[in-house]
Amino acid sequence: MSERSKSSGPPLDVAFLIRGIRAGERAVLSRAITLIESKRADHQKAARALVQELLPATGNAIRVGITGMPGVGKSTTIDALGILLAGKGHKVAVLTIDPSSSRSGGSILGDKTRMPRLAGDPNAFIRPSPASGAIGGVAARTRETMLVCEAAGFDVILVETVGIGQSEAAVDDMSDFFLVLMLAGAGDELQALKKGVVELADMIAVNKADGDNVARATAAAAEYRAALHIITPRSPNWAPPVVTYSALTGAGIEALWERILEHRKRLSAAGELAHRRRAQQVKWMWAMIEDRLRARMTADPGLKARLTALEAAVAAGKVAPALAAEEIARAMGL
Ligand code: GDP
Repeated sequence: MSERSKSSGPPLDVAFLIRGIRAGERAVLSRAITLIESKRADHQKAARALVQELLPATGNAIRVGITGMPGVGKSTTIDALGILLAGKGHKVAVLTIDPSSSRSGGSILGDKTRMPRLAGDPNAFIRPSPASGAIGGVAARTRETMLVCEAAGFDVILVETVGIGQSEAAVDDMSDFFLVLMLAGAGDELQALKKGVVELADMIAVNKADGDNVARATAAAAEYRAALHIITPRSPNWAPPVVTYSALTGAGIEALWERILEHRKRLSAAGELAHRRRAQQVKWMWAMIEDRLRARMTADPGLKARLTALEAAVAAGKVAPALAAEEIARAMGL
């Protein structure tokens, strides 16, 4: 058995965890996150109590979601941006949602060694993706981890995900600012447009604008700018900029942060930031209700079998969707 076997696992002393988290003790913070990630029913119950208790101490961080295809330079960017922010006195937590690790056990995003400088910084806390589960559940746990980090005093949360089209929306749903990283000439502009990631972007940043690549990055930025023009901006208070930078040399990293702050200033003044967060909270509530309903359905073998059969009958056009839904609702006592 692993160290997370039944008899071990994190302690359920919620009051102890709360004190440690509020005191900024990292070991306690890590244990609390392990509790949040646990699938054991008693752990989940304790985690809910923990998050509820900590709620008044949350919400004070700048929450930035960062996405981009593998190789775009996410870890290099977060390392550079994180070091810059830690140097300014911020406490930076880096959380990761890696859809590849949920499915196969393989990981595209790997561990903290991807951010070697930041990993050694006392003002930074790096937590890799929860190991397993459906993407919705993983994202929900990451969001709770974010709240706990805020309660521990982290005032910048960077939530990273790999841009392969599954987890961006979930990361956007927990961020104040959604940063999409791109490259010049990788053909990914079309990919991203298709997946709707560009619609979510509060800024597109073209990385690797260094050496011979500066001109190509600048040209790519112009293309993305043109693409953005045909999209209705999500906010009446913000036209998403397209910028170039180099995570490797650090050129333009500070400017990224300045844009994020500018966005914050404008949306806060308009009341839009508070609105965005309120809407996100309600959305998470519904996501969790839906998850639990689904879990209830599939936990009952009879119901699960009936669902599978009905799904096939609906697909074959033999049973109307409404009738199938009615039958399942009845079976669940709804
Ligand atoms: P990730 O998969 O998105 O996390 O990308 P990484 O940060 O691991 O970067 C992928 C590769 O691109 C690495 O070899 C980096 O050294 C390189 N890289 C990242 N940022 C830059 C940059 O600004 N300029 C150049 N020339 N290379 C970079």
